[in-house]
Amino acid sequence: MNYSKNNKLIIKTILLSTILLLIFFLIPELAAARPGGGHSYSGGSNGGGGGDGIAGLVIYLLLSLPPEISIPLIIIIIVFYYLSKRKKSQSNVSVASVPTRQNRSNEFYELQSKIEQLKAADPNFSKMLFLDFVTSAYYKYYSLFSKKEFTNLRPFLSQHIYDNAARIAPNSRTISEIVIGNINIVAVFESSAYMAITVDIDANYTLSMGGRNTRYVLTERWLFNRKKGVLSQGPEKMRDLKCPNCGAASNFSDAGQCDYCDTFIVSGEMQWFVNQINILHQETFSTKGLGHYEQEVGTDYPTIVQPSINNYISRFVSNHQLGDWNSYWASFTDNIASAYFLEIYKAWSDLKWERVRHLISDRLYDSYNFWIAAYKQEGKRNKLENINIQRIDMAAVDVDLYYESFTVRIFASCLDYTETTTGNLVGGSKKNPRVFSEYWTFIRRTGVEKKEEEFSMHNCPNCGAPADKMGQAAVCEYCDTKISNGDFSWVLTRIVQDEEYTG
Ligand SMILES: [Zn+2]
Ligand SMILES: [Zn+2]
Repeated sequence: MNYSKNNKLIIKTILLSTILLLIFFLIPELAAARPGGGHSYSGGSNGGGGGDGIAGLVIYLLLSLPPEISIPLIIIIIVFYYLSKRKKSQSNVSVASVPTRQNRSNEFYELQSKIEQLKAADPNFSKMLFLDFVTSAYYKYYSLFSKKEFTNLRPFLSQHIYDNAARIAPNSRTISEIVIGNINIVAVFESSAYMAITVDIDANYTLSMGGRNTRYVLTERWLFNRKKGVLSQGPEKMRDLKCPNCGAASNFSDAGQCDYCDTFIVSGEMQWFVNQINILHQETFSTKGLGHYEQEVGTDYPTIVQPSINNYISRFVSNHQLGDWNSYWASFTDNIASAYFLEIYKAWSDLKWERVRHLISDRLYDSYNFWIAAYKQEGKRNKLENINIQRIDMAAVDVDLYYESFTVRIFASCLDYTETTTGNLVGGSKKNPRVFSEYWTFIRRTGVEKKEEEFSMHNCPNCGAPADKMGQAAVCEYCDTKISNGDFSWVLTRIVQDEEYTG
């Protein structure tokens, strides 16, 4: 009895290994999982995780298969990977797939036009709210992994993703301390029945398994689908995974029935759902790289300007009945873009991140907070002094039913160095200024009419009290109101380096 069960398991393992190895070696693109192709990501230099594709595959197998299958499988794959790598290095073959700037520019125009088509078909679509939905899905998927509450995600996952995760023994693998960095939309496309959006998510988290904790830094590619013709939900249902029918906090049965309204929610009928998860890059987290400086790249690249920017500027001007766009733009760059830039980098240099809590969206705040904690833990700090803003370019304007956003490219120079808390220089220079540029995205709720020049950097934009009691969640203690959604004024939601900006 036991013998035949074991035999079956061995056969299953061998079969699975063969299939996976075939996939892994014969179609290398699949291991890197890049539907759009040509997209590169910059991996850290502090790695310890092994090859990009194989690391992703290993973690995927660990998460999706029972250990008696996944562990022998991983051993086999690693041995083959090692042998194939040795062979490759002997034959001195190298494959470079770094996209040219021309390719990136073509991809950019293609993507922008697909987003415009999506907005035309779904006037309720808001990029900001979609990214909030992605954040919430990512966070819940990993934090509820191998817990019984995972059923609450049923309407937001495809059958195979749900089944894969549900097979994991309860509480055998837990993921915690999830921090999400940037999320980039990399493709928008459609099939006969579904709309699709692919996003790349930069994140890090701690995986606990068998009493061991490992912190990983990852880039994952997630595919979201929704039935064609479905309109986007509003902020309440996009910011959290609420029941797409009644809006109650998600509480679903294994079959996807809402506990509150009794409706069976079929994935994709009313809301986006996750249809594919690929790990593009994964390495163990290390603080060793803090204070390591490399040559600045991309500062001389031309500014990437959204193709339909003039349409959106006109919409913005008419929504706010502005007499003159140029004087508005001057006021925005002075009172918001420049002012935020200086204030936020001052707080960063002083390791006093909480001081700018009310100026920054939740996701951005948490991800930079993670790095500040890492610096503190290493007894280091990164200082930016004598900041001099040289120029601000307009890169993108977006206006939808719920949000307005401005993306600007800020050119600046400053003394940028890292030192220990006792004042020993670790990296950078205290003498030679570093010249750089970054894309900063600011958002605000559509309909907010506060004048930029009346905005005070140090007060709550809702009640006017000092902005000194915002807590971790940016809820002002004086007026008990959440500030970081942009309901009262501009908040910074994204910082992207010029060489990585793709719109
Ligand atoms: Zn419901
Ligand atoms: Zn307040």
